Parts: sequence; C-alpha cells; structure tokens
Amino acid sequence: MSFQVFGLPVSRGVAIGRAVLVASSRVDVAHYFIDEDRVEPEIARLRTARDAVASELTALQRDLPAEAPAELSALLDVHLMLLHDDALTGATKQWIHERHYNAEWALSAQLEVLARQFDEMEDEYLRERKADLEQVVERLLRAMARGPASSFAPAPGVAPRDFAGEDPLVLVANDIAPADMLQFKRSVFTGFITDVGGKTSHTAIVARSMDIPAVVGAREASRIIRQDDWLVIDGDAGIVIVDPSAIVLEEYRFRQRQSTLGRERLARLRHTPAVTLDGERVELLANIEMPSDAVAALEAGAVGVGLFRSEFLFMNRNGELPGEDEQFEAYRMAVEAMKGLPVTIRTVDIGADKPLDRMSANELRHEHALNPALGLRAIRWSLSEPGMFRQQLRAILRASAYGKVKLLIPMVAHLSEVKATLEALARARQQLTEAGKAFTQVEIGAMIEVPASALMLPAFLRHFDFVSVGTNDLIQYTLAIDRADEAVAHLYDPWHPAVLGLLARVIAQARAAGKQVSVCGEMAGDPEFTELLLAMGLRSLSMHPSQIAAIKQRVLRTDAKRWSAHLERVLTADDPQLAAMAAARALSSAQRDDLVLDS
Ligand code: PEP
Ligand code: MG
Repeated sequence: MSFQVFGLPVSRGVAIGRAVLVASSRVDVAHYFIDEDRVEPEIARLRTARDAVASELTALQRDLPAEAPAELSALLDVHLMLLHDDALTGATKQWIHERHYNAEWALSAQLEVLARQFDEMEDEYLRERKADLEQVVERLLRAMARGPASSFAPAPGVAPRDFAGEDPLVLVANDIAPADMLQFKRSVFTGFITDVGGKTSHTAIVARSMDIPAVVGAREASRIIRQDDWLVIDGDAGIVIVDPSAIVLEEYRFRQRQSTLGRERLARLRHTPAVTLDGERVELLANIEMPSDAVAALEAGAVGVGLFRSEFLFMNRNGELPGEDEQFEAYRMAVEAMKGLPVTIRTVDIGADKPLDRMSANELRHEHALNPALGLRAIRWSLSEPGMFRQQLRAILRASAYGKVKLLIPMVAHLSEVKATLEALARARQQLTEAGKAFTQVEIGAMIEVPASALMLPAFLRHFDFVSVGTNDLIQYTLAIDRADEAVAHLYDPWHPAVLGLLARVIAQARAAGKQVSVCGEMAGDPEFTELLLAMGLRSLSMHPSQIAAIKQRVLRTDAKRWSAHLERVLTADDPQLAAMAAARALSSAQRDDLVLDS
C-alpha cells in the first residue's frame, strides 16, 4: 500500500529507486556491486570470515575460567548458533548472489532485515537477542576487514559501476555522519533519506554538494520503510512516497526528465559572466570539501573557490590527523586545479555536527561536550591545539606558492582570537622562512557567523582583508536553533528579521570600509535570496558548484538598483513571513517596472 513520509527538502530533484536500509553504525561499510564472476570468491570471503569467527568463539568458550558464570558460556552458545543460522549467513549469500552486493554490504543488509524481526517479537528475551546478533555481525565484519581485501572494490576516486539490470538504490538511515557522507560521493546510491538532521546540517550540505536528491528529518522513515520498498524522493517538497502507484511513478519519471532538461539548459550559462541587468558584475564562487571537487567547480563556471572546508581532510582517519606535507599536497592540488583562480581555504572547523571520527583521540572531548555547537569548535579548537594549527597554517601558506590562496578563519567571536590567530600565522611564516620553504602573500579573512562578530564588525575589519558570512551558523546562533536538530527545524528561518538585519548590516559596513564581503552559507546558493542579497549590495556569493548555474540565471535577470528601492520594506518587516512577502512583492513590482520600461 502506498503512503508518504514527510521530511525537510534539502537537496533538489527526484530520485526513484529501491530502499537500502542501513543502520547508522553501518553507513561506513563499503557498498559496491560485484561482477558475476566475482560472486563465488565474495561468498568465499564470507565463509572464511564465518569460520574465523567460529574458531574465535569456540576458543573463547574453551578458555573460560572454571569460575566464570554459566551464563557466559550459554551466551557464546547463542552467538555460535546465530553465526551458523541460515537466516544470517544463508540469506547474506543470497544478497551476494542475486543482488551482487559486496559481502560487507550483504551482511549489513541482512542484519537490518533480522533486526526488524527481532524488534517485532513479543517475547522480551527473544527481542533482546538483537544485541547478540549485532555483536556476531560486528565480529564477522572485523574478520572480513582482517582477511584478504576484496580485490574488486572500486579504487578510491573511481565511481563504482552500476550493476547492469539492477534497480537504482536509495539509502535510508537514521543518521549519516558528514564523514560517512564523503564515502557516498562515489557510491551507488541515487538519493538519501535520514530520520534526523536539519536543512543546513552538514549531512544535508554534503548531499547538496553531490547534487543528489535528499530528504532529512523524516523522523520515523528508517523504521517505517522496509528493505527493498520502491521509493520516490521528492527533494523539492521533502516528501518520500513509499510503494508509489503506477500513475504517481509515471508523473515523477516525467518530472525527472524535465529536471534533467532544465539542468542541461542552465548548463549553457557556464561561460556567461554573471552581470546584473544594471551592469553589476557578481562573483560566483564554489564551496568544496575535497581538492578533487575543484574540477566540478571549474566545470560549473565558478570564478574561484570561496570556501574549501578543510576539516573534511581530517575525517575518516581513525583519529590520526593529516600532517603538514599531506595537507600541503591537498591544498596545492586544489590550487593548481583552479588554474590561477583564487582558492579560499578555511582552517579546520571541527566540532558541533562535524566531529572527528569515532576513533579520534579527541572523541571524549567532543562526545561529552555539553553542547557541542557552543563548545570547542572551529577556531576555538584550533587555538587549543597550537601545534596542529601552525602545521595547517604552514601547509596553507606553502600552497600559496602555486596559485592565489586566501585564508579564512571560522567562527571568530573575540578579538583575542584574532590576535592569537595572527600571532600563530606570523610564527608559521617565520618557521617557513627559516626552513627555506616558499610562500607568498595571502589575504586573511574572517567568517562572520556569530552575532558577536557581526555586531562589532568594524573592530574585526581592521585586522582582515575580507569577510565571508557563514549564514548557516549565523542563523543558528542568532536564533538559538541547532541547525542539525529536526525538532526545531521549523524555527530555523533565514527570513527572520534579526538575521536579515545582521546580514544587511555586515554587507553595508564591510563595503563602507572598502573590504571584500562574500556570503558562503547555504543562503548564497538558494535562488529565493539572490535578488535580496544583491539589493543589500552583495557582489560575491559562494555555493556548491551544482547551484551556480541557477543562481547565475537569477543574477542575469535582476536589476539590483531597482530592487534595492524595495529593500527597506523587507528589512523593516517584523516577522519572517512578512519579510518573505515583502520580498515577493518587491520581485514582482521590480519585474513590472521592467515591463513598463520595456514597453
Ligand atoms: C556557515 O556556517 O554558513 C558555513 C558556510 O560554514 P559551515 O556550514 O561549514 O559551518
Ligand atoms: Mg559555519
């Protein structure tokens, strides 16, 4: 029976495919398809792992001290029984055989199926056996990781091929960490659904950067949707249709084709300069997470990178941080790929909803922070790890010998942080000079993302060459709304007069001081705000490469001067809906003005 699940629309477009349910703890398991001739060797990997775990469990049981409680031995019996149960290993083989999933994926898919069966059991004792099953699967996954690696996993950076004849797949999970999302950049999934998350949670941001339809904050989705259900993700409306009827499916397939055509049309604007109707040149820059994203940025027609979120280099490393040389190579790669266009590298912004990975040495600090969004995050963390920070600054400075590099500092709120950062930078420069390593002059910018720095901008501007407004955090901290919490997502509103007021003020003050100002939060890539931002005087916007063409189209159709005549009305509205309505009226009357002029 068809039904709908509602969530937040975070990444546009339509995805149609079968559900693959993945437990949050398993999203980092590799997911790829294997060729027909690799089915038997993959099953052999599973068998080898099963035998290894059986020996492990038998040895544990044999070595139990005589005084060990009898329950322990009984528990190991249960584990052995689960291990050999056809419902686990037999069915896993079937996933490999019939679907051509790699063994780890097949095993976690089967775990999901069985876990649900356990959840639905009446008997409490049996229900609790789910934890045992999870432990057995954990052992199997570990044994596979220890055993010979699958020789048919796609190499890093290589997109896994689609399995011929196989249906497209949509990933459904309770949550996906930003670090795990990175792995999906080269995955087989055509869309994502998560139970938790907000519109500007980093999971949503990475989904948008991949240009894959996604719905987050869908509450119960991973509980209600079953493995293999047919799904339609409507990424524009934030709706998931489970088991759609033939008519609905046909309608969405039509919309999918329309959206592909629309994108192809927009792509033709790639080389058109972004200039408004009244002749104002606008700089459209790209937000990237990895050096390899620079290719997509250039292809989309970006005139530089406005935000390189360097923290993604620090994730998925089992707690080990990247050293100076490794970072230098990554930054140099991005700089060289941009062929002389500016690359703005933001120093590491770890914390809040972007923890280092689970194994991190700093895990304790982050996991147990009382309120991570208000805790040791971004520049605060960097200044608390001076060795790490100087290493990163040296790496960024060294990359400046290969192109135009700009340095961006996240989340500054105190002038003392500015002072400490500039001192660290001076020291990093001195160390490089002493070591005879090349670097050139780089411009230094501050991210304005807490009300404190927005309210005392002139004092900050004295120390920086440019500022970039991080609206995602500026909204979070102005409205006291956790950007990753779906329970308060309805209150996260860029149209809030307090947000618009701060934004307009920052843009005006930076311009008055003769400093460059950009916006690199999600508002920059949302066509709903383009005219408003231009009317505020903004001439530089940084967004995911996939959004550049749509924003350019808006820029080309906007008369910034005429629109700014209506700005005051938007800024003086005293509630978000009224502000949005005033903007809509401004848009239609600016267009009417055009008509009058044209006629
Ligand atoms: C922002 O806060 O708007 C921003 C661009 O930084 P991030 O989303 O990485 O916190
Ligand atoms: Mg931010």
